[in-house]
Amino acid sequence: MEHFAMTYVVTDACIRCKFMDCVEICPVEAFHEGANMLVINPDVCIDCGACVPECPADAIVPDIDREAAPWMEVNKRWSAVWPVISLRGETPAEADAHRGEAGKYEKYFSAEPGAGG
Ligand code: SF4
Ligand code: SF4
Repeated sequence: MEHFAMTYVVTDACIRCKFMDCVEICPVEAFHEGANMLVINPDVCIDCGACVPECPADAIVPDIDREAAPWMEVNKRWSAVWPVISLRGETPAEADAHRGEAGKYEKYFSAEPGAGG
């Protein structure tokens, strides 16, 4: 069976980075903000790919990417709960320190919503 990308997915590479270069370029406000990471609402994303090159952490992948599989449910579940974010917020001071770190989901994931905006 052939697969076509239907949505883009934020992976754990975003956790505690939240540089947020991605949100302002999204034409449909698909991003939602948790306390430590962003997710994409798969029902809203129009699969344009514009956010991918904006992300300095390489955290955004198409759903057909091997890396996307474990994060599909995370994006779907939390985008239904967390507020939309479409304006770039303030990058946390620790963002660079956590870039490329392994096991961030286990260490830092928080179900708490972000402020949105
Ligand atoms: S630019 Fe990348 S790391 Fe930053 S908030 Fe967006 S998805 Fe997350
Ligand atoms: S792929 Fe396009 S529509 Fe989907 S989240 Fe990225 S910028 Fe928004």
